[in-house]
Amino acid sequence: MRPPVSPATVVAAVAGSPVRHSLSPLMHNTWIAAAGLDAVYVAFELQSERFEAFVEGLRGGMVAGLNITIPFKERALALADRADPLALASGAANLLLFHPDGTIEGRNTDGAGLIGAFQSQAPQLNLASGPVAIFGAGGAARGAAAALMAEGCPEVRVINRTLDRALALAEDMGSNLKAFQEDQADKAIDGAVALINATSLGLGGGPGPAMDWSKASPGAVAMDMVYRPLRTEFLKQAAVNGHATVDGLQMLIGQAVPSFEALFGHPPPQTDVRTLLLAELEP
Ligand code: NAP
Repeated sequence: MRPPVSPATVVAAVAGSPVRHSLSPLMHNTWIAAAGLDAVYVAFELQSERFEAFVEGLRGGMVAGLNITIPFKERALALADRADPLALASGAANLLLFHPDGTIEGRNTDGAGLIGAFQSQAPQLNLASGPVAIFGAGGAARGAAAALMAEGCPEVRVINRTLDRALALAEDMGSNLKAFQEDQADKAIDGAVALINATSLGLGGGPGPAMDWSKASPGAVAMDMVYRPLRTEFLKQAAVNGHATVDGLQMLIGQAVPSFEALFGHPPPQTDVRTLLLAELEP
């Protein structure tokens, strides 16, 4: 039997803090095994003050790349020598590729994951048909806002606890993005065709962003980027109030597909990772 690693093993990882909740290693290693690749995907829980030094130390390609998660996506982009249009538009990268010439390339695949999740679980929704409200203004919200605008969404409304962070997003993305403080959520969701939780509220259980569901448009679709638990309080409340829902697991898989191809030079094999990850989330 071939040993699981060799001197030529390609190494990639997810880096974040916290990262112990991540399903990315299970997903990528399942694809690696199914494709028969000599590769391994691990997780690095980083101290915040060491993030830049850690990434700089990987220049040269000893590690093929890193998926970047909470809370480093904006700092990741700042370290890249070049970046794809969505990363540049959003100001956040969830994938860093380390090239042999010492350069770092930043990409944002979260946007594709988000749009793919809507297409798969709420195919009736046209994201260009009206405003979309996003709770949160961190790296994930940035990627979502840029992707929604690229889909033709006429207005993105960002609601955040720290108003300055939402205002900075509005400044970066232009007049089609409006910033709202948490206590203005009712105004922000008025007429929205989709409501997205891009905060870490609800992670590990507990309530999602505070909002009055009676103020949401009847046909609005609710999406939660948090996937642990899969049925978050935000999605449960949405369903109780008659709204269609889209879960964060579908987005996670959707952002991982282009990440895997970029990291390992091979598309993921046709493996039902959703069922595998569901068993992990809901044993
Ligand atoms: P981040 O950059 O650290 O941003 C966190 C966001 O959550 C900020 O807007 C922050 O508000 C808000 N927040 C945190 N605690 C809060 C609280 N107690 N009350 C109100 N707001 C609070 O993180 P991120 O990278 O954007 O990720 C956000 C979430 O999305 C995480 O749960 C992450 O796991 C999830 N995510 C999932 C996927 C997926 O594929 N399913 C992809 C990306 C991200 P302030 O600005 O006021 O601090």
